[in-house]
Amino acid sequence: MHEKCGVVGISLADRDAARPLYYSLYALQHRGQESAGIVTHDGFQQHEHVEMGLVGDAFSLSDLESLAGTNGIGHVRYPTEGGVNECCAQPFSVSFKSGSLGLAHNGNLVNTDEIREELAGLGHAFTSTGDTEVIAHDLARNLLEEDLVRAVKSTMDRVHGSYSLTIMHDETVLGVRDPQGNRPLCIGELDDGYVIASESVAIDTLDGELVRDVRPGELVVLRPDGRGFDSYQLVDREHTAHCFFEHVYFARPDSVVNEELVYEVRRELGAQLWAESGIDSDVVMPVPDSGRAFASGYAEAASEAGADVEFAEGLMKNRYVGRTFIMPTQDERERAVRLKLNPIMSTVDGRSVTLIDDSIVRGTTSTQLVALLRDAGAQEVHVRIGSPPIVAPCYLGIDMATREELIAADRDVEEIREAIGADSLSYLSIEAITEALGKADTDLCLGCVTGEYPYDIEGEERDRDVTRPTSDHAASADD
Ligand code: AMP
Repeated sequence: MHEKCGVVGISLADRDAARPLYYSLYALQHRGQESAGIVTHDGFQQHEHVEMGLVGDAFSLSDLESLAGTNGIGHVRYPTEGGVNECCAQPFSVSFKSGSLGLAHNGNLVNTDEIREELAGLGHAFTSTGDTEVIAHDLARNLLEEDLVRAVKSTMDRVHGSYSLTIMHDETVLGVRDPQGNRPLCIGELDDGYVIASESVAIDTLDGELVRDVRPGELVVLRPDGRGFDSYQLVDREHTAHCFFEHVYFARPDSVVNEELVYEVRRELGAQLWAESGIDSDVVMPVPDSGRAFASGYAEAASEAGADVEFAEGLMKNRYVGRTFIMPTQDERERAVRLKLNPIMSTVDGRSVTLIDDSIVRGTTSTQLVALLRDAGAQEVHVRIGSPPIVAPCYLGIDMATREELIAADRDVEEIREAIGADSLSYLSIEAITEALGKADTDLCLGCVTGEYPYDIEGEERDRDVTRPTSDHAASADD
């Protein structure tokens, strides 16, 4: 199960946490649209409300009022392919002999089955197939024998994979980030409390200040009185495995993730795209919204280099259509692209166009858009992509299709160009990604673009010390 989600945890001095949690979930809505949930604790008991749907639909005023307590956690869940999954809506709650636990998880474990089998053998009954329940049961079991910090450490020693967690243990809110820091998690300070959230936009929404990222392998314990937090570095690893795709596509551009403002990283990647494969055309235009920052960086670099190029919007987005990936069948996905985007004739008609997007996954969007722009009168359509070809699936929390569905899994760039019908196609190099993020490739997870992962995944290659492809990222119709 690929859980691409958003999590938050809040402790306040003397205000109920439900509303700030609700607002933060709104800010994290892009990380998950399938379900939303909040768990609070009022000092005596835990309250929860978890519902399918968008944040705005999942909670009524009376739901929020029933969530009493100054401490709480929240979660938004991304739809997995094939539709809705009621079993796995979060936060996940368990009561056990010495208290209550609520858990919100972003990421994906790679050894769930092993631990589930072991715990089932010890008499734990599981109600879902999700890995979050496995973490919750393991932690509950450890808490029977160990204090909180040791119990979290024991669980971290057992579970492998990616996890950014917010946890409600009785009235204490915790944040935990996996030892390689695959998914983001950060700490924020409010006037009257503290927040732990997947992205800093959740903190901004509450008028708070970003304090810092939760460190890979760190446990952060918010004091239930909202007056501070304690940090425990529980696991140390030589290398991180930050997901580069957070900066390319998933995180909001106005978030600071791993100390880098996502918008600036995307603009820098756009400038690199120009440096690596800039092409003369009448107009540069983004695929809204995912290509926008890349296209502005590309166009700026182009004009700095003296190219006579216009930067304009050539596609208008219907903002009421959800992300294409929510559509389970290929037919629906194709219809959704057409429903979502419509050309602006004056930008496109009779002109050569460079179309910029962040990524190609199945190739549905770019194939449809190239055809759409030609129908609208484009003379040439050049496609530039702000990431390397996606050649392998993500097992660590980004829902990204299987190898069979990935257009780049078994095609070279020229074959992809032909498949999407573009006059030319170029992707960005892996070096441009490592440079823009200011990280060595050994500190990033690049599994989806190299097929080699910094985690042990059954049937896949383990990376590190493996040479990666550096060129062969461009093709044009004249090749
Ligand atoms: P595709 O149409 O399958 O090639 O997907 C590429 C389009 O989907 C691009 O416009 C991306 O911005 C967007 N995209 C990339 N990754 C994802 C993802 N994991 N979930 C939803 N959309 C994505």
